[in-house]
Amino acid sequence: MLRQVAESVLIHKSEFCQSNAVVVQGRAGVLLIDPGVTGDEIACLANDLLELGQPVVAGFSTHPHWDHLLWHAGLGAAPRYGTARCAATVRDRLSDAGAKGRVAALIPPDIAEQVPLDLLGLIAGLPAEVAQIPWDGPQVRIIEHQAHAPGHAALLIEERRVLVAGDMLSDVLIPMLDLNDTADPIEDYLAALRLLEDAAGDVDVLVPGHGSTGGADQVHARIDQDRAYVHTLRDVGAPGDPRVGPSATYDWVPGVHARQLQHLAPRSERDGTPGRNERTAERI
Ligand SMILES: [Zn+2]
Repeated sequence: MLRQVAESVLIHKSEFCQSNAVVVQGRAGVLLIDPGVTGDEIACLANDLLELGQPVVAGFSTHPHWDHLLWHAGLGAAPRYGTARCAATVRDRLSDAGAKGRVAALIPPDIAEQVPLDLLGLIAGLPAEVAQIPWDGPQVRIIEHQAHAPGHAALLIEERRVLVAGDMLSDVLIPMLDLNDTADPIEDYLAALRLLEDAAGDVDVLVPGHGSTGGADQVHARIDQDRAYVHTLRDVGAPGDPRVGPSATYDWVPGVHARQLQHLAPRSERDGTPGRNERTAERI
C-alpha cells in the first residue's frame, strides 16, 4: 500500500528490514527509487501505480546492494539509474555467470525464493557531473558520498523538502560502513554525514532505506546519533546506541557492530583476524 509522505511523494514499505520504496510523481509518470524486495510486494506496487494511471518513467538505485537493485517486469522498462560508481560496482560484481548464485546466498533463506533476481542491477551510471536525475518531474538532486557502499547516493527533492537517504540515517540500523572499498571508512562516513547535514537544512521529511520516516527534527537527531555511533567505533568505546542495545529492533545488528569493531581494530590489537583494509564478504 502506498502512503503519502509529502506532496507527490509516496512510500511503499517492504516487510524485509522495513525497506522503503519511494515514488515521486512527475508530469508523465513516476520516478521509483529502490523498488522493494519480494516479487509480490513489487508487483503490488506496480499494480497500485497502474490503478493510479501513473507509469514508471524512471528508476533509481541508491547503492549497489542487492535489496536496492531489484525490479519487476510489471514496472515496465523505464530507464534505471544509479551513480556511475554504483553502476560500475554492479557491473564488476554481477558480470560473471556465478553472480546471481552469490547474491541468492546473501538473501535470508525465508524470503530467498520470493526475491526476483532476473532484472537485478540493470542500471545505467549517471556521470559524476550530472547533478539531477534526468526525468520530467520535480528536480531530484543526487548527493553522492562514500559511506555505506561504493557510489552511495542520497536524493534531495528540494521542492518537496524530502531527503531520501538510502542506507544512511536509519532509526533501526546502525551505520554500516563500507569496509572494503575505502582506505578510511570512518572518516568517509563522517564526511558523508557532514554532506547530508549541509544538504538537509530545509528538509521536512526524511525517508531512510530501512526504518521509519522522520520529520525535520529527526534529520538532525539521526545525523547526531549516527555520528556518535561512528565516533564510538573510532574510539573503540561501548556504544550507548539503542539500535545495538537490549532493545535493538533486529537481533543481528549487535553482530554487525562487533564485526565492524573487529575489522577496524588496529592490527596490534588483533590476532589473525581480518582487519583494516582486508576484504570482508561483499554485500551486493
Ligand atoms: Zn545497503
